[in-house]
Amino acid sequence: MMAIPSSDPIEVIVDRQERVLIITWRDNHRSVYPFDNLRRDCPCATCNDARDRRPHTRELLVLSGPVVKPGEVQITSYRPVGWYALNFTWSDGHDTGIYTYESLRAACPCEQCVGAAPAP
Ligand SMILES: [Zn+2]
Ligand SMILES: [Zn+2]
Repeated sequence: MMAIPSSDPIEVIVDRQERVLIITWRDNHRSVYPFDNLRRDCPCATCNDARDRRPHTRELLVLSGPVVKPGEVQITSYRPVGWYALNFTWSDGHDTGIYTYESLRAACPCEQCVGAAPAP
């Protein structure tokens, strides 16, 4: 049977070399998220506000700390938030984004998921 996509991670890898976050889910699906996209789509209130004010820009938002260009963003550290989310500290010092597994799974950029997503 086709289960609802799992938002239960069994493995989380932060690959600073490739600059990707790799999550393997309980249903054995594997999601690969480039750091640039994660940073750009930071779900914290500050970044949400900034995106609302500039709805047409999809550029990387840099709000504090040293200037970080796409292609240079790094995760300096990360920690789980309860059982439901991840929190990253970015190389620009930004660390208020809570990335829930549910939203990460929903945002899986793989071809299969992008193709399966309902049209907006
Ligand atoms: Zn943010
Ligand atoms: Zn996927």
